[in-house]
Amino acid sequence: MTPADDVGFELPPRSVFEPPSYPNIWFYVEERLADGQPAAVALVTGWLREEAGLVEDFGRFKAPEAADGQARLAQLQPWQGAPDPALDHAHDLHIRYYHVALRQRHADRAWISERDGDRRLYYRFAASVHYEVEDEHPRHPSVDECPWCGRTGEYAGASDLFAGVHEPLGLELLLYGTVRGHAVSRADGRPATGLVALRAPYRVEVHELRPTRPDMNVAAIAVVTLAPPFGGAP
Ligand SMILES: [Zn+2]
Ligand SMILES: [Zn+2]
Ligand SMILES: [Zn+2]
Repeated sequence: MTPADDVGFELPPRSVFEPPSYPNIWFYVEERLADGQPAAVALVTGWLREEAGLVEDFGRFKAPEAADGQARLAQLQPWQGAPDPALDHAHDLHIRYYHVALRQRHADRAWISERDGDRRLYYRFAASVHYEVEDEHPRHPSVDECPWCGRTGEYAGASDLFAGVHEPLGLELLLYGTVRGHAVSRADGRPATGLVALRAPYRVEVHELRPTRPDMNVAAIAVVTLAPPFGGAP
């Protein structure tokens, strides 16, 4: 995995917008697809809503934790094998979006060098994604014993359940449609397609980065770039 400081994305410090943890996924939208950061946000969140099913359907007020928007894909991987049936639960893929503070600090754009040497302007915003016990469950957000979202299997030794398990699993599911390598289905039976395989009228690239700075208090970071298809704007 590439160290986060070795590439040209110039990820801003966490102090710009003070989320509890450093955003683990960043979206960069090339200027030919969006004429500013608000358009970039609308494009990406609309794409994830339509194609990945990430919708704002929480049944109760949910603290935004300094975010500007949030969404989820609910009722995933129902676990029914708990020793205490009260622990049985389904899961949410939960994402929070951060864009306003980046825009106010003029940290909402970056120039990136393409492989052909051209430099292009991208509008960017951040998001934080995690996988957890469904929001409606009394034990939300965590059941340590769960074989999917718990401190189990290869994640048994995680010191922090959120940063060491829920966040990396959320990133795996959003990017690849799997949790611990197992394909996940939506509540209606359709596959939970990962971002790398979603239908898109633009060129989508995913860069997985290894956090390098002390303010990056997450296990993994992804940068997703959206650009016009080769051969010009759509
Ligand atoms: Zn959550
Ligand atoms: Zn929660
Ligand atoms: Zn679970």
